[in-house]
Amino acid sequence: MLEDSYLWIEKSLTTIHQANWYRSVRTLESLPGAEVVLEGKPVINFASNDYLGLAGDYRLIEAAIAAIQTFGTGSTGSRLMTGHRELHRQLELEIAALKQTEDALVFSSGYLANLGAIASLVGARDLILADEYNHSSLKNGGILSQATQIDYQHCNLADLSQNLAQYRSHYRRCLIVSDTVFSMDGDLCPLPEILELAEAHNCMVLVDEAHATGVFGDNGAGCVEYFGLTSFPLIQIGTLSKSLGSLGGYVAGSKNLVDFLRNRAASFIYTTALSIADTATALAALKIIRQEPEHRQQLWENVSTLKQLISQELPEINLLPSASPIICISMGSPSQALQLTQQLREQGIFAPAIRPPTVPTSRIRLTLMATHETQHLQALVAALKTSINRHLA
Ligand code: PMP
Repeated sequence: MLEDSYLWIEKSLTTIHQANWYRSVRTLESLPGAEVVLEGKPVINFASNDYLGLAGDYRLIEAAIAAIQTFGTGSTGSRLMTGHRELHRQLELEIAALKQTEDALVFSSGYLANLGAIASLVGARDLILADEYNHSSLKNGGILSQATQIDYQHCNLADLSQNLAQYRSHYRRCLIVSDTVFSMDGDLCPLPEILELAEAHNCMVLVDEAHATGVFGDNGAGCVEYFGLTSFPLIQIGTLSKSLGSLGGYVAGSKNLVDFLRNRAASFIYTTALSIADTATALAALKIIRQEPEHRQQLWENVSTLKQLISQELPEINLLPSASPIICISMGSPSQALQLTQQLREQGIFAPAIRPPTVPTSRIRLTLMATHETQHLQALVAALKTSINRHLA
């Protein structure tokens, strides 16, 4: 029977359930923010990538409405056909200005930006050296490119160096690929040292600034700015969906790089242009990032307040090393992580469990926002304390 060909899907689902890897969506029923309504219940939100709290800002909402009223909803075609508007170009120039690069190219998502850039820059005769904890879009970009992809140990320069020494000379081009802020750990890649190795071995470097843009650096340009490396020839990818409170992705770099990708990146050429509402929203967010550094400052204050509260009140919990607003509590097993998430939820705290296969070990991932208030952080720590005491009882 034809149906039999699909029986494996049910078996696969059973395996996913048995391993405690099953995932489902949760419905958010309010504006995004530090306090949200999740499936009918008000909760304090420690799960969002909206680091600066801009996704619910009225100025972004008004920018989206105004753009739709002028230009309509759908962009009606790819950028190279009927989808391009002046706002797209304005956004690219604003991103390039923030990043201090010659130019930038906007994609319909960060995932598509990574797929398109990597698959255009290297091919079957080339080598990718990638941090083992890189985001899925970087890994899949590597697969799509058909280059040989070797993972080096997470942030391990000795391992990267050893791989370069062993393999670089066998390949035409080499691309070193890394997140700058690791999304499921919250630590940073050693970018200055990676660039030194790249120079010594004649490699290109592509960094994913998804969780860094708007958060790191004096102007919020990201980790490249934070490390003082804006003058280096880099390929910088990012998303408009986190600090910028919108949707979409970008590649920032040299004029030639952008011109090349506009002509080569399949995920730019053959997909519908970023919607005008998302484009206008991202532009409004960039203006706020430029004019109101106080949101970024508040975010970092919140990071240090939470770390301080945890070290005072909960010295027994094990935090993964973090240098960002992503703070992870290490958990012994997927079921323990799920249990803690559930207990926190009962106390009005939304903090998701992240489990294998997304990450090697289970954890509770907390993300901070500029719009969290001290009382939110205190409520989180109190709820953690109650849950952990219940656990020990
Ligand atoms: N890179 C990283 C590090 C990410 O965390 C994400 C989103 N989770 C992406 C890329 C993809 O960005 P987008 O959501 O815009 O597709």
